[in-house]
Amino acid sequence: MQYYNNEIEQKYPKLLNYFKNGIKDDNKSISHCLLFWGADITSQCELALEIARLLNCNENGDFSCNCLNCRWIREQTHPAVKIYTRLDFKENDTASDDSETTKGKKNININQAKAIINELSVTSDYHRVYIFCDRDENGNLLPLNQINFPEATSNALLKTFEEPPADTTFIFLTKDKNDVISTVVSRAQSFFVPADNKNEYNHDLVDNTVQNYWNIDKQQVLSFEENLYQLANDNEPIEILEQFQNYILETIKSNLENKHIFYKLTKDLSYIEDAKRQLSLTPSMDLRAVIENLCFKIIL
Ligand SMILES: [Zn+2]
Repeated sequence: MQYYNNEIEQKYPKLLNYFKNGIKDDNKSISHCLLFWGADITSQCELALEIARLLNCNENGDFSCNCLNCRWIREQTHPAVKIYTRLDFKENDTASDDSETTKGKKNININQAKAIINELSVTSDYHRVYIFCDRDENGNLLPLNQINFPEATSNALLKTFEEPPADTTFIFLTKDKNDVISTVVSRAQSFFVPADNKNEYNHDLVDNTVQNYWNIDKQQVLSFEENLYQLANDNEPIEILEQFQNYILETIKSNLENKHIFYKLTKDLSYIEDAKRQLSLTPSMDLRAVIENLCFKIIL
């Protein structure tokens, strides 16, 4: 599975700037244990790979750099940059007395921890980056928790996390800091990584404008329309329409028993979807006309 994202720089400009400066500046060095938390594990992994690139680049770390290290990391073939999950480890026949196979393997086990310690005892020409997370059989990334990254494993690695060899960085990907053993959390520098789609389930921007909009009477349509237009005009219009949909989805969930509202709101969702489509397919589309048309359908 490919996780490197060529648009990562636009996605997290502030976070990446922080790491870029920290990596360049010897005094402000970045911790060798980083913990990312938030709902979006794939984006965390993309960010971790980009940090691995900054740490390994032979040139100045520019996004367009084409040095061998940068190329390897983009292709995910770098020998020292590893995404480490319970499934990405083959048990050595002689190393284990249990018959655990990769299939159905529940966690990053002690043998994996030992393999890491062995590997780190040999020096490397590269900056080694171990990205710890979980994944399913299809390659979808999942967060670390105390089942897939149990206490016994983290204890075995604790000393390594505390005093790793030079040029080694560990990055932990998780949903909630409480899902990772506290002894690891206390040794790591933590960063909240916002979800890729910042609109996901969010409707903060539209709350004041669209609250209970189905109760608006016809005399107020023009002011509702004007407010919605201003909001869309002052922000990214698609984002506003998406938040409007999020608001409706949440309302539907809490009004499941009211068939009338359910029917109306479901229809409105598709009207908003039409408006989004109009705006995204035709950038020259007159925003006011789209909003007017939408309000006409959902209010009257
Ligand atoms: Zn480079």
